Amino acid sequence: MQGLVFDIKEFSLHDGPGIRTTVFLKGCPLRCVWCHNPEGLSPRAELFVSSTCKQCGLCYRGCEHEDCRPYGRCLHICPQNALRVAGQVWEVDALADRLLAQAEMLREGEGGVTLSGGEPLLQADFCAALLERLRGRIHCAIETSGYADAADFRRVVEQCDFVMMDLKLMDAALHRRYTGVDNARILDNAVWLKASGIPHVFRTPLIPGITDTEHNLAAVRAFVGDDAWETLPYNALAGAKYAGVGRTFEYHLPT
Ligand code: SF4
Ligand code: SF4
Repeated sequence: MQGLVFDIKEFSLHDGPGIRTTVFLKGCPLRCVWCHNPEGLSPRAELFVSSTCKQCGLCYRGCEHEDCRPYGRCLHICPQNALRVAGQVWEVDALADRLLAQAEMLREGEGGVTLSGGEPLLQADFCAALLERLRGRIHCAIETSGYADAADFRRVVEQCDFVMMDLKLMDAALHRRYTGVDNARILDNAVWLKASGIPHVFRTPLIPGITDTEHNLAAVRAFVGDDAWETLPYNALAGAKYAGVGRTFEYHLPT
């Protein structure tokens, strides 16, 4: 079984307890206007051009490399190292072997592996198969929007030692407006998670003028009850990578 991964970040201190290796799975069904991972949105591999590109045009010259063919640009010639493909195909076993090779170091750092994205549950089969290889050998966590079919959510989350789940907006209309999807299935999955006994924390990104309103935060707090809940600060550099994948960042901080 194969999955599409757009980044693997080692020594992460912000994706769960301890020192972690975070696997960023490509593709997300949401379109949060504040998203800071635009290269994780599309479920397909795509070119990412960093801001160090000097527009020299070298990469547009023809080349014979097999891996460059789908992109119409040479991935190997850039003097700025500005061009890369966001989206690498991984076999479950190869990725599990790579992660398990770090198990001792991650255990010493009281951490483990975190599946993130994008939305990892968009590749639920791959996540489930990967967790099956990792479970019991390394601490496994997941960061999820919770927007997934209930059966997919449960079969993946049940294999995790720790779950970090977003609760962004409690109002259905505002959720649709700012993330592009309804929040009903998210809330259903959150209710299940609350009762599951699986260690978890709910998280709310504090987006000025959108999620950080008194009304929304009170509603999240009421829903969460006695469960763990944390707020995450707005990433002021959220828009920095949009041009790199040909997208436009449309959120502006309120003045
Ligand atoms: S990506 Fe690199 S090679 Fe291509 S135009 Fe930009 S600087 Fe030149
Ligand atoms: S759920 Fe996360 S990855 Fe998906 S659009 Fe929202 S912020 Fe981005």
